[in-house]
Amino acid sequence: MRVLIIGAGTGGLCLAHGLKKAGVDVALFERDRTPRSMLIGYRVGISPDGSKALHSCLPPDVFAEFVRTTARPPKHIVMRTEKYKELLVGDIATDRDDSRSEKSVSRIAMRTALLGGLDDVVRFDKTFTRFTRNDDGTVTAFFDDGTSETGDVLVGADGAQSRVRRQHLPDAKVVDTGITSIAGKLPLTEENAKLLPPLADGGITLLFGPNGEFVIIHVMRFDGTGVEDDYIMWGYAASHHKFPDLKDMSQAELKQAVLTMTPKFHPNLRKLFALATPETVFQVRVRTSERLRPWKPSNVTMIGDSVHLMTPGRGIGANTALRDAELLCRKLVEAHHGKNVVQVIGEYEQEMIEYGFEAVEASREMMDGNSLVHKPVIGRVAAAFQRTFLRVTNAVPVLKRKMLAEDAAERDHVSSDHEVVHAG
Ligand SMILES: Cc1cc2nc3c(=O)[nH]c(=O)nc-3n(C[C@H](O)[C@H](O)[C@H](O)COP(=O)(O)OP(=O)(O)OC[C@H]3O[C@@H](n4cnc5c(N)ncnc54)[C@H](O)[C@@H]3O)c2cc1C
Repeated sequence: MRVLIIGAGTGGLCLAHGLKKAGVDVALFERDRTPRSMLIGYRVGISPDGSKALHSCLPPDVFAEFVRTTARPPKHIVMRTEKYKELLVGDIATDRDDSRSEKSVSRIAMRTALLGGLDDVVRFDKTFTRFTRNDDGTVTAFFDDGTSETGDVLVGADGAQSRVRRQHLPDAKVVDTGITSIAGKLPLTEENAKLLPPLADGGITLLFGPNGEFVIIHVMRFDGTGVEDDYIMWGYAASHHKFPDLKDMSQAELKQAVLTMTPKFHPNLRKLFALATPETVFQVRVRTSERLRPWKPSNVTMIGDSVHLMTPGRGIGANTALRDAELLCRKLVEAHHGKNVVQVIGEYEQEMIEYGFEAVEASREMMDGNSLVHKPVIGRVAAAFQRTFLRVTNAVPVLKRKMLAEDAAERDHVSSDHEVVHAG
């Protein structure tokens, strides 16, 4: 069996490793010209689900290298107002081994680590354009350089703007959530660290503004591993209508737009905005998939954002892509050992649609421009209610435990006893 994967992102690389490890013939095609030409480098939180999928699919040396490239893991989640007043503080379990722990990683460092050992599998500068199904049951992928490749299975792992999805599931809808986000990074120096709210260094901080705006702060410490210089990353999100016209703005102007929109935010937070290195500032118009009805399985399938794009609101997009990769890998290995390939892909898709769109919907709740907090006038009341709710939850141990347990459960579904067995 030969498997063709389109896209060397989070999901595609994990799947390629798992298949290669199990002795399946696999080829992966990536449109980027080089391994490091990925433009946006942001922090990704790897959940227990993501860790388990990576541990299961990656060979031990590549998994160890991936773990080495991660930053210090978060110990708590802290919610505050835009003026740094405490709303809720919760702990994140840190007593787990690497195969099932929470991790913080930079997107580029993760890709670099995951490319280890795949020289014979990944081909860069290959932009997929379309596929055809052949009479003998195989599938052919075509690329914009005029070349093509034929295999028994085609997996779209080509992210948010997937061309595989456009051809395979033309009715699938990706919609605008009404939320725009601008993010930036600054070096973690002693001086800059003094601007952070309490507990931000060592945790994930969420700040809630009075009009539904939302700020996330991550502190990335690499503890001298040389992977990257330590940095602070912030992301500001609000409904589109609160932003000026961002079209044609330079990165420095995007940063200025955040400052103009937040005159009453804590002065130190505004300094963190102002100190972002302009080249690191980027904007995202947050989009999401709409729930898909099950379709007839075939030897063309998809994983990750290509099939269930979700908002970054819950930090589970990459983790769900990894979960898909692990599950599909296990299923394809069953086909490699004799099971019907379309049947196993059908089993994968049935399970993936269920948890994938649950994750899409949970992520949308966190970032939806139509929700009450973003409405004029009533939005302020809803935002005040949200703060009161968080303060009360913080003060009542049983409520706090329940909320944190639900949150942790959302990041820890997969049982850890799966392991893709090395061929031979
Ligand atoms: C600011 C931000 C923060 C985030 N934080 C988190 C987080 O903390 N935790 C989390 O779980 N998720 C997070 N996410 C989401 C996460 O990054 C994505 O869900 C995840 O990377 C999806 O993985 P994927 O493999 O499906 O796609 P991707 O990783 O996007 O990979 C797709 C690959 O396909 C390639 N490609 C595309 N088209 C073609 C083509 N035609 N031919 C060949 N190759 C092609 C692309 O170049 C790319 O390499 C965040 C997202 C953003 C924007």
